[in-house]
Amino acid sequence: MPFSDFHGNPETVRRLREMLARNHFSHAVILSGAHGSGKYTLALMLARTMNCLEQPVTDGLPDFCGRCANCTLIGQAEDLDARVAEAVEARDGMRDADKKETRLFVQTHPDVLVIPPDPPQMMIKVDQVRHVIGSIYYRPAEARERVYIFTNSAFMKEAANSLLKVLEEPPEFATIFLLAENPGELLPTIRSRSGSFTLSALGTEEIEALLAKRRPDWNPQERSLVARLSEGAMGQALSFDLKTYVAARAQALVLLNSALRGADHSELFKITETYRSGADGREKTDNLLRTLYALLEDMLFIESGTPQLVRNTDIQGELKRMAESADFAWINRAAAGLGEVERGMRRNLLRSLSLDAFATALERTT
Ligand SMILES: [Zn+2]
Repeated sequence: MPFSDFHGNPETVRRLREMLARNHFSHAVILSGAHGSGKYTLALMLARTMNCLEQPVTDGLPDFCGRCANCTLIGQAEDLDARVAEAVEARDGMRDADKKETRLFVQTHPDVLVIPPDPPQMMIKVDQVRHVIGSIYYRPAEARERVYIFTNSAFMKEAANSLLKVLEEPPEFATIFLLAENPGELLPTIRSRSGSFTLSALGTEEIEALLAKRRPDWNPQERSLVARLSEGAMGQALSFDLKTYVAARAQALVLLNSALRGADHSELFKITETYRSGADGREKTDNLLRTLYALLEDMLFIESGTPQLVRNTDIQGELKRMAESADFAWINRAAAGLGEVERGMRRNLLRSLSLDAFATALERTT
């Protein structure tokens, strides 16, 4: 998987590779960009390039072979979600005393360490940074460069301060990647000691073209829908769960249409009663709420005369009919009502009742 497999942001990728070519790579590099924009994929590609045993050159710049021992081992960390899930599961299976001592890491190569945020707070903790400090001053064993990848910019205060100490005196043979959706979360003193690179959103057409190659199982209409819903992030587009989305959207449409038309509630109640308590129900409700917001936004685009911004392009006709029977005030009330449902979920109100209340409160009394 060399750099030609990285989609989008060619300028940024070239600048990073040029830094490698000049042997001038920053000790700490902030890669910022939206969820799914390729921050982790790129960091792992750079880690392989730093340590590839074959050191191939493409377009006059350093690349990686993807086949040598170092590339292979580092590449095993590619599916981050799966590796983190394994690490969490391994820790959950430990005795309580050991569990407390064990911090979360993904390590598939002795010199490359991936540091994900630690659940349940989902933040980088001080013990994780201490573990980094424990190894970073030793010369790499199998690699040329030790690489540390922090996959999230949410650091506990003490953790951020410990990291800052490393950045004040970094060893010459180590590189730290800080991946950030919002780099403003990082301490200004950490930011000032790091090189900073941003992965920007890709255009819808660019994503559609790539999906045509990578997801031939989706038809053009589906690829266009996914491209619009992934907000310019290739990772989001490739991992998009179209089936779940379409199912959630069908139910969201029933809810909105029931609220717009009023009258018979049997179809509405049949749907809302399937939203149960527990973790499964939570995820299903989250999906539904996200979809409802997106549909309301699309209605707003139609209402304000900017239909080209609509994301659910495959149901544009239906959205147009809905927008015709609603108005700005109604759409605003609906969005406020969704906020109410979200607050209710946090207070553990029955989801089915919150959703019934949402839809019936919006019924138009003409
Ligand atoms: Zn290699």
